[in-house]
Amino acid sequence: MKSSAGKPAATEAESTHCEFDFESASSPHLKPGLNERFERPPFSPNQSPDSASQRLMIAGIPIANLSEDETVARIDELISVGGPHFGAVVNAAKVVAAEHEPKLKCALVDADFVTADGMSVVWAARLLGLPLKQRVTGIDLFERLLAHAAEQGLSVYFLGARENSVRGVVEFSKRRHPSLRIAGYHNGYFEESENEFICDEIMSSCADLLFVAMGSPKQELWIASNLLATGVRFALGVGGSFDHLSGRVRRAPIWMQKRGLEWLHRFVQEPTRLWRRYLIGNLAFTLLIVRQLFRGRRSS
Ligand code: UDP
Repeated sequence: MKSSAGKPAATEAESTHCEFDFESASSPHLKPGLNERFERPPFSPNQSPDSASQRLMIAGIPIANLSEDETVARIDELISVGGPHFGAVVNAAKVVAAEHEPKLKCALVDADFVTADGMSVVWAARLLGLPLKQRVTGIDLFERLLAHAAEQGLSVYFLGARENSVRGVVEFSKRRHPSLRIAGYHNGYFEESENEFICDEIMSSCADLLFVAMGSPKQELWIASNLLATGVRFALGVGGSFDHLSGRVRRAPIWMQKRGLEWLHRFVQEPTRLWRRYLIGNLAFTLLIVRQLFRGRRSS
């Protein structure tokens, strides 16, 4: 595989080993013996069978080169391997944020997989000559996993968003998938001191899949620190998905999604909150990609 610059495409998490200590970050919440889920193999992020083989480095973040179907299959594999696992999705703003927030970067590097949520990440891959198969957005993956969980008899827990949004996503899921096992839900506005209680609640619910919708970097850091204590088999950060699926915030029309203009649709709805993320974030992301492109050219 070659990049456009003639340099071998970066296909795995080259250098990145994280100092972030997931085990000790989680340990305060551990209560061994609470249920049989602690009998799982020891926690080892990235323990997917071929986890490093299909990654493309984009601005220091290893992006899994998976289609949406393959991502669902990967999650099945992770669940069958045992132990807790988590996935993440990134857009331009998150890639830029990871440059400045080492804990976020570590969480992304140590995730079992990271997919391209934003069209800008897909365009960046093309510009860098990396053969990224598909954009796999958090909300699309979330919807696929709800259907998959209903088919497979996996139970789900929803954590995040305002109370009316999280209740709305529960109602949406029940309507859409009557057989889905909903283990529980909790809104995303709680103090750090309530973490232990929430982890215990998720653990007691015996949920298989956990969806965390608390925005970035909060959701990635929360998952990285608390995954083990929740006892779930797989967790995914899904950003604003609860707001969309509950109908509280409208998603961009399909034509805008296809043209990579979803960010513009969101920006118009919430300009004061999002201008920095999109305007500055997109510019900073472009600079990171240009830097990667020129580094590739220089070393080829
Ligand atoms: N949120 C939360 N707890 C917080 C802050 C935010 O649960 O402390 C929720 C918020 O209500 C919204 C989501 O996180 O539902 C953030 O959505 P955003 O659009 O920022 O996420 P993105 O998809 O862009 O990462």
